[in-house]
Amino acid sequence: MKVLVINCGSSSLKYQVLDMTNEILLAKGLVERIGMDGSVITHEKIGMDKIKTEVPMKDHKDAIKQVLDAVQNEEYGVVKSMDEIGAVGHRVVHAGEKFAESVLIDDAVIAALEECVELAPLHNPPNLLGIAACKDLMPFTPMVAVFDTAFHQTMPPEAYLYALPYEYYEKYGIRKYGFHGTSHKYVAQRAGAMLNVNINDLKLITCHLGNGASVSAIKHGRCIDTSMGFTPLEGLVMGTRCGDIDPAIVTYIRRKENLPQGVANEILNKKSGVLGISGVSSDFRDLEDAVAEGNERAALALRIFAKKVRFYIGAYIAEMNGVDAIVFTAGVGENDVNMRELICTDIGNLGIKLDLIKNKVRGKETIVSTEDSKVKLLLIPTNEELMIARDTYNIAKKVK
Ligand code: AMP
Repeated sequence: MKVLVINCGSSSLKYQVLDMTNEILLAKGLVERIGMDGSVITHEKIGMDKIKTEVPMKDHKDAIKQVLDAVQNEEYGVVKSMDEIGAVGHRVVHAGEKFAESVLIDDAVIAALEECVELAPLHNPPNLLGIAACKDLMPFTPMVAVFDTAFHQTMPPEAYLYALPYEYYEKYGIRKYGFHGTSHKYVAQRAGAMLNVNINDLKLITCHLGNGASVSAIKHGRCIDTSMGFTPLEGLVMGTRCGDIDPAIVTYIRRKENLPQGVANEILNKKSGVLGISGVSSDFRDLEDAVAEGNERAALALRIFAKKVRFYIGAYIAEMNGVDAIVFTAGVGENDVNMRELICTDIGNLGIKLDLIKNKVRGKETIVSTEDSKVKLLLIPTNEELMIARDTYNIAKKVK
């Protein structure tokens, strides 16, 4: 079965077509500037050059139409007609407490996800627009929703409840949900395969370190804690997000700077993190270039980022009474040799020893710990799209 994976943002859309009989990626692409001037689709049939086409797209339905045209194109498409696409998998950011696993989309699911819009006002609406557009254009093709929050639903209340009046949890669902769940689940499964140990026998800490970043404690295959919270703002220092701060700071700055409604949120989400500290960039490559030129604040930003990752690693070792393997994934985790070194320096007493030579690797599955390291350190490129396609295939084949 061929599966189309759709990941809709507010003005962009990523897609992939995979053949799930052998899990082979056939084509992928990106639509940008949906609803704006200069909307553009970049399509790549695997093995061929990328093709970039500017075409007006006033909304997500237009964007999906372009995607369907591209995947059926005679020259660079991968199917003759949409009948060959057996199912569509949609990435959906927030499922609240409603879904703990991926689900076949029907009207009741859509209604449930609409109720979650309040929890993720920036992310769920475009996800729902993508689903609606696909339903219009491919009404008989099964659709599956795969949620960023689902994997974290196994957290116990001790991990997910905030020390706020309990009624806020009951009335408004204020609790830790966690995000990047599809990525944490994928790399945890790969870690089991790499170590040749059943994931149910492992204690893992998975570090998804990208522009957004989160750490999860995965005990015997189940997430028991994660660093992102009610929103993706909590936890680690990120590219532009502040991560954990004293909540009193928000009211204090708002008063001092006389900030209008919404601006504080914008500062915490878009102007903080390593960008905020360094004043240089949210991109770790730029920061490392700046450090090479002697920029002290860029160096400080990187040290603060590393310290916070170590903080969570330590906390989760305590939570699980040990750890068998720590996984690094996503843009920084997969590629940033220096950051992995900074994180893993001087924690040998916890049984964590990085092999500095093996660590000099980017973007491929590798064990980067020393032979005598009690805790294995793993570099595992994430693949959220494959995970979405797998769940979609497994659910859709039951209804076909
Ligand atoms: P992601 O959100 O997973 O796509 O990660 C994007 C981030 O990964 C970028 O903003 C960079 O900070 C980081 N990144 C990507 N490649 C490298 C690299 N070669 N070295 C250091 N950081 C990198």
